[in-house]
Amino acid sequence: MEQNKATGEMGKNEKEETFGLGDAFAFACQRCGKCCQNRGDLIINPKDIFRLARFFGRSMEYIVDKYCDFTIGATSNVPIVRLKTVGKRNACVFLDNKKCFVHKSKPFICALFPLGRDIPRTDGEIGEGEAPAPAYILQPVKCGDSSQLNTVEEWLVDYDVHEEEEFFRLWMRAFRAVMEFMGSVDEKEIGREQMGAIWQVVFVYLYANYDVSLDFMTQFTGNTEGLNKHFAEIARVLGPAEPSEPSEPTDSLPPLV
Ligand code: SF4
Ligand code: SF4
Repeated sequence: MEQNKATGEMGKNEKEETFGLGDAFAFACQRCGKCCQNRGDLIINPKDIFRLARFFGRSMEYIVDKYCDFTIGATSNVPIVRLKTVGKRNACVFLDNKKCFVHKSKPFICALFPLGRDIPRTDGEIGEGEAPAPAYILQPVKCGDSSQLNTVEEWLVDYDVHEEEEFFRLWMRAFRAVMEFMGSVDEKEIGREQMGAIWQVVFVYLYANYDVSLDFMTQFTGNTEGLNKHFAEIARVLGPAEPSEPSEPTDSLPPLV
């Protein structure tokens, strides 16, 4: 099993068993809190930040400032947001005496654990109506035991799993589009200052331009459209890019950061 470092999601190996929402897997959590320690890899998405912003009654920018690290993916060149860790054990900033302080609003990647998910490879575009549903995978963890049988939907009972699946497809697609655009911008040509301005625009549209009292999905769609318009304008100002080699068809998830 490999983690996609750009999105924090898990990819699957060919032979791993996959589950749909109604399929059952055996796992009981012993609530030891160990999966919330030694974590520098808790990459979160805008829907996670939105949920946390509602939980705290704050803006998404506040959540990123206070509880997250913001970085630029070394390969993707796209802004990435990770939960902060604290202390010698590198514990998640929300771990409170072995319990998750934001339990019912925790990031979806945490709610999934020990499951991971992937979108099966397809000829179609991710996010289009006919794209297949995500497949869930039980990661080979050493914790817990197999005394409890849960369907994937039961495991995620605090979440609207159908909306989460829809968002996951659209997020993968949006992330890949942003990554492709950022790959066409050469920092050596435009300079650090302009590059920083573009990262700022991408950050705001991806992670901050939301009113948490309104519907998330509507705003997410509006933000991706707004970002595309900005990209068209930036491309017009920067002039035509050098033609690049056509890219090979990729795996269902974007390449690593
Ligand atoms: S998922 Fe595993 S590591 Fe995390 S709290 Fe449960 S038993 Fe502990
Ligand atoms: S958000 Fe909660 S469940 Fe996720 S790593 Fe932090 S403490 Fe653990």
